[in-house]
Amino acid sequence: TDIQELLLSRIRDVADYPEPGVMFKDITPLLADPAAFTALTDAFAEIATRTGATKVVGLEARGFILGAPVALRAGLGFIPVRKAGKLPGATLSQAYDLEYGSAEIEVHAEDLAAGDRVLIVDDVLATGGTAEASIQLIQRAGARVAGVAVLMELGFLPGRRRLEAALDGAPLESL
Ligand code: IMP
Repeated sequence: TDIQELLLSRIRDVADYPEPGVMFKDITPLLADPAAFTALTDAFAEIATRTGATKVVGLEARGFILGAPVALRAGLGFIPVRKAGKLPGATLSQAYDLEYGSAEIEVHAEDLAAGDRVLIVDDVLATGGTAEASIQLIQRAGARVAGVAVLMELGFLPGRRRLEAALDGAPLESL
């Protein structure tokens, strides 16, 4: 579609970042273009409305930039899922494996309640590890996942397949 062409034209491929052999998808040109940023926000907000989301979760750090305007556009609250040690209140934590080592993400426990339906927003789905851990975190908080919305999924990695079981029928939407 025209919107997909616009979004794609505002994503920069950076070779060998952050390490040799990796082609990094850089969304800063998209953020700098208000027409593209608005089109992205509208598309994500439509997903939030269509999936019946009651909250928007953004994954640190680009998920904060993309998710906050989506929450406002859809008339929903925004909740940050952060890397461990950044949130001051009582948190739930979820560890997950990286290629080398592991990572941990957290959410304020009081931000999610039973009955909430959460749309998870991020820029890139790669291996799916971050999104899978986020789904587990949301479910452990007693809420349900309405869906996962990303700008891009790297189709040569098994992220979509990895999320299938955790999503339990909820949609993974990549623009
Ligand atoms: P995953 O956990 O392997 O799916 O990696 C996804 C996380 O890493 C997301 O939070 C992304 O923001 C980040 N990420 C992975 N690859 C890229 C990329 O090429 N560009 C921007 N972010 C990326």
